[in-house]
Amino acid sequence: MTKQITGRIHSTESFGAVDGPGVRFIVFLQGCHMRCRYCHNPETWACSGGTVRTAEDVFKQALRYRSYWKNGGGITVSGGEALLQMEFVTELFRLAKAEGIHTAIDTAGQPFTFKEPFFSAFAELCSLTDLFILDLKEMDNEKHKGLTGFGNKNILALAKYLSDTGIHMWIRHVLVPGLTDDEAGLLAMRKFLRQLKTVDRVEILPYHAMGVPEWERLHIPYTLNDVNPPTDEEIKRAERIVGIRNNLVVPDTKVGTAVSENTKFTTLSASAAAAQPSV
Ligand code: SF4
Repeated sequence: MTKQITGRIHSTESFGAVDGPGVRFIVFLQGCHMRCRYCHNPETWACSGGTVRTAEDVFKQALRYRSYWKNGGGITVSGGEALLQMEFVTELFRLAKAEGIHTAIDTAGQPFTFKEPFFSAFAELCSLTDLFILDLKEMDNEKHKGLTGFGNKNILALAKYLSDTGIHMWIRHVLVPGLTDDEAGLLAMRKFLRQLKTVDRVEILPYHAMGVPEWERLHIPYTLNDVNPPTDEEIKRAERIVGIRNNLVVPDTKVGTAVSENTKFTTLSASAAAAQPSV
Protein backbone atom coordinates (compact mmCIF):
# COMPACT_ATOMS: atom_id res chain seq x y z
CA MET A 1 0.00 0.00 0.00
CA THR A 2 1.24 3.48 -0.88
CA LYS A 3 2.44 5.49 2.11
CA GLN A 4 0.22 8.45 2.83
CA ILE A 5 2.82 11.15 2.51
CA THR A 6 1.36 14.61 2.39
CA GLY A 7 2.47 17.96 1.05
CA ARG A 8 1.24 21.52 1.30
CA ILE A 9 -0.08 22.43 -2.11
CA HIS A 10 -0.55 26.02 -3.23
CA SER A 11 -2.27 25.18 -6.53
CA THR A 12 -2.12 23.01 -9.63
CA GLU A 13 -2.15 23.76 -13.35
CA SER A 14 -3.46 21.16 -15.78
CA PHE A 15 -1.83 22.31 -19.02
CA GLY A 16 1.53 23.90 -18.29
CA ALA A 17 3.45 24.67 -21.48
CA VAL A 18 6.73 26.20 -20.33
CA ASP A 19 7.90 24.44 -17.16
CA GLY A 20 9.55 21.50 -18.87
CA PRO A 21 9.13 19.72 -22.22
CA GLY A 22 5.70 19.11 -23.74
CA VAL A 23 2.39 19.66 -21.99
CA ARG A 24 2.69 19.23 -18.24
CA PHE A 25 0.68 18.96 -15.06
CA ILE A 26 2.23 21.50 -12.69
CA VAL A 27 2.07 21.22 -8.91
CA PHE A 28 2.89 24.47 -7.12
CA LEU A 29 3.98 23.77 -3.58
CA GLN A 30 3.47 26.12 -0.67
CA GLY A 31 6.42 27.58 1.22
CA CYS A 32 9.62 29.43 0.36
CA HIS A 33 12.36 30.88 2.55
CA MET A 34 13.71 33.29 -0.04
CA ARG A 35 12.29 36.77 -0.44
CA CYS A 36 13.10 37.67 -4.02
CA ARG A 37 12.38 41.33 -4.63
CA TYR A 38 10.57 40.47 -7.87
CA CYS A 39 8.69 37.39 -6.66
CA HIS A 40 5.32 37.26 -8.37
CA ASN A 41 3.88 34.70 -5.95
CA PRO A 42 4.49 36.09 -2.43
CA GLU A 43 1.37 34.26 -1.31
CA THR A 44 3.40 31.03 -1.61
CA TRP A 45 5.97 32.14 0.98
CA ALA A 46 4.23 31.01 4.19
CA CYS A 47 5.23 27.40 4.89
CA SER A 48 2.13 26.87 7.00
CA GLY A 49 -0.33 27.73 4.23
CA GLY A 50 -1.69 25.80 1.31
CA THR A 51 -3.87 22.69 1.20
CA VAL A 52 -2.59 19.47 2.73
CA ARG A 53 -2.94 16.62 0.22
CA THR A 54 -1.43 13.18 -0.19
CA ALA A 55 1.01 12.44 -2.99
CA GLU A 56 -1.34 9.71 -4.16
CA ASP A 57 -4.26 12.12 -4.39
CA VAL A 58 -2.25 14.66 -6.39
CA PHE A 59 -0.93 11.91 -8.65
CA LYS A 60 -4.44 10.65 -9.37
CA GLN A 61 -5.46 14.19 -10.33
CA ALA A 62 -2.43 14.51 -12.62
CA LEU A 63 -3.16 11.19 -14.33
CA ARG A 64 -6.43 12.55 -15.70
CA TYR A 65 -4.35 14.60 -18.14
CA ARG A 66 -1.99 11.83 -19.20
CA SER A 67 -3.36 11.63 -22.74
CA TYR A 68 -2.01 15.16 -23.33
CA TRP A 69 1.55 14.29 -22.28
CA LYS A 70 2.85 13.42 -25.70
CA ASN A 71 6.23 14.74 -26.90
CA GLY A 72 7.96 14.39 -23.57
CA GLY A 73 5.28 15.92 -21.35
CA GLY A 74 4.69 14.88 -17.77
CA ILE A 75 4.64 16.29 -14.26
CA THR A 76 6.53 19.33 -12.94
CA VAL A 77 6.70 20.32 -9.29
CA SER A 78 7.28 24.02 -8.73
CA GLY A 79 6.74 26.44 -5.89
CA GLY A 80 7.21 28.24 -3.65
CA GLU A 81 10.30 26.12 -3.19
CA ALA A 82 9.89 22.46 -4.15
CA LEU A 83 13.00 21.30 -2.26
CA LEU A 84 11.41 22.27 1.06
CA GLN A 85 8.99 19.34 0.67
CA MET A 86 11.26 16.65 -0.69
CA GLU A 87 9.50 13.74 0.96
CA PHE A 88 6.27 14.65 -0.82
CA VAL A 89 7.98 15.27 -4.17
CA THR A 90 9.91 11.99 -3.88
CA GLU A 91 6.71 10.05 -3.27
CA LEU A 92 4.89 11.81 -6.10
CA PHE A 93 7.77 11.11 -8.48
CA ARG A 94 8.03 7.50 -7.30
CA LEU A 95 4.42 7.02 -8.38
CA ALA A 96 5.13 8.82 -11.67
CA LYS A 97 8.26 6.87 -12.55
CA ALA A 98 6.46 3.59 -11.84
CA GLU A 99 4.18 4.63 -14.72
CA GLY A 100 7.03 5.83 -16.94
CA ILE A 101 6.06 9.50 -16.64
CA HIS A 102 8.60 12.31 -17.18
CA THR A 103 9.32 14.25 -13.98
CA ALA A 104 10.75 17.76 -13.51
CA ILE A 105 11.48 20.03 -10.54
CA ASP A 106 11.41 23.78 -10.87
CA THR A 107 13.59 25.12 -8.05
CA ALA A 108 15.67 28.08 -6.91
CA GLY A 109 17.89 25.67 -4.99
CA GLN A 110 17.97 27.60 -1.71
CA PRO A 111 17.57 24.55 0.61
CA PHE A 112 20.40 22.60 -1.06
CA THR A 113 23.26 21.41 1.14
CA PHE A 114 25.65 18.47 1.17
CA LYS A 115 24.88 18.04 4.87
CA GLU A 116 22.68 15.28 6.21
CA PRO A 117 19.87 14.50 6.48
CA PHE A 118 19.13 16.74 3.49
CA PHE A 119 21.63 15.28 1.08
CA SER A 120 20.59 11.61 1.22
CA ALA A 121 16.96 12.58 0.72
CA PHE A 122 17.98 14.84 -2.16
CA ALA A 123 20.02 12.08 -3.83
CA GLU A 124 16.98 9.79 -3.64
CA LEU A 125 14.82 12.49 -5.21
CA CYS A 126 17.40 12.96 -7.97
CA SER A 127 17.13 9.27 -8.84
CA LEU A 128 13.45 9.87 -9.65
CA THR A 129 13.85 13.23 -11.44
CA ASP A 130 14.42 13.56 -15.18
CA LEU A 131 14.96 17.32 -15.29
CA PHE A 132 15.85 20.17 -12.95
CA ILE A 133 14.74 23.66 -13.94
CA LEU A 134 17.11 25.79 -11.89
CA ASP A 135 16.78 29.51 -11.40
CA LEU A 136 20.14 31.31 -11.29
CA LYS A 137 19.07 34.68 -9.97
CA GLU A 138 22.44 36.36 -9.60
CA MET A 139 26.05 35.17 -9.75
CA ASP A 140 27.55 37.46 -7.11
CA ASN A 141 27.01 36.12 -3.61
CA GLU A 142 26.48 39.50 -1.94
CA LYS A 143 24.17 40.77 -4.67
CA HIS A 144 22.24 37.51 -4.40
CA LYS A 145 21.73 38.20 -0.71
CA GLY A 146 20.42 41.67 -1.52
CA LEU A 147 18.05 40.27 -4.12
CA THR A 148 16.74 37.22 -2.26
CA GLY A 149 17.88 37.36 1.37
CA PHE A 150 20.25 34.39 0.86
CA GLY A 151 23.68 33.79 -0.64
CA ASN A 152 24.10 31.60 -3.68
CA LYS A 153 27.14 29.43 -2.98
CA ASN A 154 25.01 26.37 -2.26
CA ILE A 155 22.89 27.04 -5.36
CA LEU A 156 25.95 27.09 -7.60
CA ALA A 157 27.14 23.94 -5.82
CA LEU A 158 23.79 22.35 -6.64
CA ALA A 159 24.22 23.14 -10.34
CA LYS A 160 27.70 21.61 -10.31
CA TYR A 161 26.43 18.53 -8.47
CA LEU A 162 23.69 18.00 -11.05
CA SER A 163 26.22 18.39 -13.84
CA ASP A 164 28.72 16.01 -12.23
CA THR A 165 26.07 13.36 -11.69
CA GLY A 166 24.69 13.61 -15.23
CA ILE A 167 21.31 15.10 -14.33
CA HIS A 168 19.80 17.31 -17.01
CA MET A 169 19.05 20.96 -16.34
CA TRP A 170 17.32 23.96 -17.75
CA ILE A 171 18.73 27.22 -16.41
CA ARG A 172 16.65 30.36 -16.00
CA HIS A 173 17.71 33.90 -15.24
CA VAL A 174 15.23 36.71 -14.68
CA LEU A 175 16.59 39.90 -16.21
CA VAL A 176 15.82 42.90 -14.00
CA PRO A 177 17.10 46.18 -15.49
CA GLY A 178 19.59 47.82 -13.15
CA LEU A 179 19.66 44.79 -10.86
CA THR A 180 20.52 41.52 -12.64
CA ASP A 181 21.65 42.78 -16.04
CA ASP A 182 25.14 44.09 -15.32
CA GLU A 183 27.80 42.93 -17.74
CA ALA A 184 30.09 41.53 -15.06
CA GLY A 185 27.31 39.36 -13.67
CA LEU A 186 26.24 38.13 -17.09
CA LEU A 187 29.84 37.32 -18.01
CA ALA A 188 30.22 35.41 -14.75
CA MET A 189 27.11 33.44 -15.69
CA ARG A 190 28.58 32.79 -19.11
CA LYS A 191 31.72 31.39 -17.55
CA PHE A 192 29.80 29.31 -15.03
CA LEU A 193 27.42 27.79 -17.57
CA ARG A 194 30.33 26.61 -19.65
CA GLN A 195 31.57 24.54 -16.72
CA LEU A 196 28.30 22.60 -16.65
CA LYS A 197 27.93 19.50 -18.80
CA THR A 198 24.20 18.78 -18.65
CA VAL A 199 22.49 22.09 -19.48
CA ASP A 200 19.87 21.49 -22.17
CA ARG A 201 18.36 24.96 -22.26
CA VAL A 202 19.03 28.47 -20.96
CA GLU A 203 16.32 31.11 -20.74
CA ILE A 204 16.73 34.82 -20.05
CA LEU A 205 13.29 35.77 -18.79
CA PRO A 206 12.12 39.38 -18.67
CA TYR A 207 11.26 40.78 -15.26
CA HIS A 208 7.61 41.73 -15.01
CA ALA A 209 5.53 43.38 -12.33
CA MET A 210 2.41 41.23 -12.59
CA GLY A 211 2.80 40.10 -8.98
CA VAL A 212 2.63 43.62 -7.52
CA PRO A 213 -1.11 43.49 -6.69
CA GLU A 214 -0.40 40.42 -4.57
CA TRP A 215 2.33 42.28 -2.64
CA GLU A 216 -0.15 45.09 -2.06
CA ARG A 217 -2.87 42.68 -0.95
CA LEU A 218 -0.45 41.18 1.57
CA HIS A 219 0.76 44.65 2.67
CA ILE A 220 4.38 43.83 1.84
CA PRO A 221 6.40 46.83 0.60
CA TYR A 222 7.44 46.35 -3.02
CA THR A 223 10.87 47.83 -3.77
CA LEU A 224 10.95 47.67 -7.58
CA ASN A 225 8.18 50.11 -8.40
CA ASP A 226 10.59 52.23 -10.45
CA VAL A 227 11.84 49.31 -12.54
CA ASN A 228 10.40 48.64 -15.99
CA PRO A 229 10.50 45.29 -17.79
CA PRO A 230 13.52 44.95 -20.09
CA THR A 231 13.08 45.71 -23.78
CA ASP A 232 13.60 43.06 -26.45
CA GLU A 233 16.94 44.71 -27.17
CA GLU A 234 17.99 44.38 -23.54
CA ILE A 235 17.04 40.70 -23.57
CA LYS A 236 19.06 40.17 -26.76
CA ARG A 237 22.03 41.98 -25.25
CA ALA A 238 21.91 39.72 -22.19
CA GLU A 239 21.66 36.62 -24.39
CA ARG A 240 24.63 37.85 -26.38
CA ILE A 241 26.74 38.44 -23.26
CA VAL A 242 25.79 35.12 -21.66
CA GLY A 243 26.34 33.45 -25.03
CA ILE A 244 22.98 31.88 -25.77
CA ARG A 245 21.48 31.17 -29.16
CA ASN A 246 18.07 29.56 -29.54
CA ASN A 247 18.16 28.97 -25.77
CA LEU A 248 21.33 26.92 -26.13
CA VAL A 249 24.76 27.69 -24.77
CA VAL A 250 27.06 28.69 -27.59
CA PRO A 251 30.36 26.79 -27.28
CA ASP A 252 33.02 29.11 -26.05
CA THR A 253 36.76 28.98 -26.13
CA LYS A 254 37.41 32.36 -24.61
CA VAL A 255 34.96 34.02 -22.28
CA GLY A 256 33.63 37.31 -23.54
CA THR A 257 34.78 37.06 -27.13
CA ALA A 258 33.21 34.05 -28.78
CA VAL A 259 29.80 35.40 -29.78
CA SER A 260 29.63 36.96 -33.21
CA GLU A 261 27.97 40.35 -33.38
CA ASN A 262 26.21 39.10 -36.50
CA THR A 263 24.68 36.16 -34.71
CA LYS A 264 20.93 36.22 -34.86
CA PHE A 265 19.54 35.70 -31.41
CA THR A 266 16.05 34.67 -30.56
CA THR A 267 13.96 35.79 -27.65
CA LEU A 268 11.52 33.67 -25.76
CA SER A 269 8.02 33.14 -26.97
CA ALA A 270 5.39 35.38 -25.44
CA SER A 271 3.98 32.47 -23.47
CA ALA A 272 7.39 31.65 -22.02
CA ALA A 273 7.95 35.27 -21.11
CA ALA A 274 4.60 35.46 -19.38
CA ALA A 275 5.48 32.40 -17.37
CA GLN A 276 8.30 33.93 -15.38
CA PRO A 277 9.18 31.21 -12.93
CA SER A 278 7.87 31.43 -9.43
CA VAL A 279 11.20 30.22 -8.10
S1 SF4 B 1 10.65 33.99 -6.77
FE1 SF4 B 1 10.58 31.83 -6.11
S2 SF4 B 1 12.42 31.59 -4.82
FE2 SF4 B 1 12.00 33.78 -4.99
S3 SF4 B 1 10.74 34.28 -3.21
FE3 SF4 B 1 9.35 33.85 -4.91
S4 SF4 B 1 8.83 31.69 -4.69
FE4 SF4 B 1 10.68 32.05 -3.47
